[in-house]
Amino acid sequence: MRTHARVVVIGGGNMGAGVLYHLAKEGWSDCVLVEKAELTSGATWHAAGLVSRMVGGYSLGSMHDYAVDLYKSIEAETEQAVSWHGCGSLRVATSPDHMDWINHVRDAVLARGQAAEIIGPDEVKALNPLYDIEAAGVLGALYTPDDGHVDPAGTCFAMTKGARQMGADVIRQCRVTGVNQLPSGEWDVVTEQGTIRAEHVVNAAGYHARQVGAFAGLDLPITTMQHHYV
Ligand SMILES: Cc1cc2nc3c(=O)[nH]c(=O)nc-3n(C[C@H](O)[C@H](O)[C@H](O)COP(=O)(O)OP(=O)(O)OC[C@H]3O[C@@H](n4cnc5c(N)ncnc54)[C@H](O)[C@@H]3O)c2cc1C
Repeated sequence: MRTHARVVVIGGGNMGAGVLYHLAKEGWSDCVLVEKAELTSGATWHAAGLVSRMVGGYSLGSMHDYAVDLYKSIEAETEQAVSWHGCGSLRVATSPDHMDWINHVRDAVLARGQAAEIIGPDEVKALNPLYDIEAAGVLGALYTPDDGHVDPAGTCFAMTKGARQMGADVIRQCRVTGVNQLPSGEWDVVTEQGTIRAEHVVNAAGYHARQVGAFAGLDLPITTMQHHYV
């Protein structure tokens, strides 16, 4: 196994894959991702996969816009299927306060140069005939036609494939068991298959991030929560 890398990314979920891919895109290809099991075997594979531009804040919204565009184009770039389905999305309002909120979000999306419109209950019904708008008390909805959904495992595989194509490395079935800082400021990342010396370490271990942080003496305020599927 290699013994040096500029960056070691710990965790092969969508966050780790995204970091590796974007480092490689910036020219940092001397980077390696280390995954204890298989890529996307953490939380990523069972994410709902909803990808939306419907965000009110400018910075976060710009990141969402970038992600939508990336997920739409990365299949052609890497030849890894991500199952992009551009079905658009609706956020319904059932009170005057809700209507105020979706008007605000519409303006924020439009300000970023993206498509968004407020539609009435009949148009909601036309777009989603199975939705009982009377029972729900729908007053209107924000419709963002450029939204969609993807297979999150596909995005993870596509970004790691793209990173590999640009020269980065992925090591699977290799648990990180320690992270030690050296007097030089470098890091020794201890794994089941050997130690990798790195300039930088990225903790992308998802719900294991607290444990990985503890390897380096950090007490990260992260805890695992259970939530339901709809
Ligand atoms: C396209 C997409 C759409 C999404 N849509 C939704 C949505 O609609 N709603 C929603 O709530 N969420 C959604 N999510 C978010 C998703 O549910 C997760 O929160 C997210 O994917 C977590 O990614 P992660 O990389 O941080 O963690 P994980 O996927 O859990 O990855 C962490 C990885 O680290 C590895 N690891 C842990 N410890 C070690 C170690 N010691 N050594 C080596 N490896 C280790 C694990 O094995 C795991 O593979 C979406 C995500 C994506 C990608």
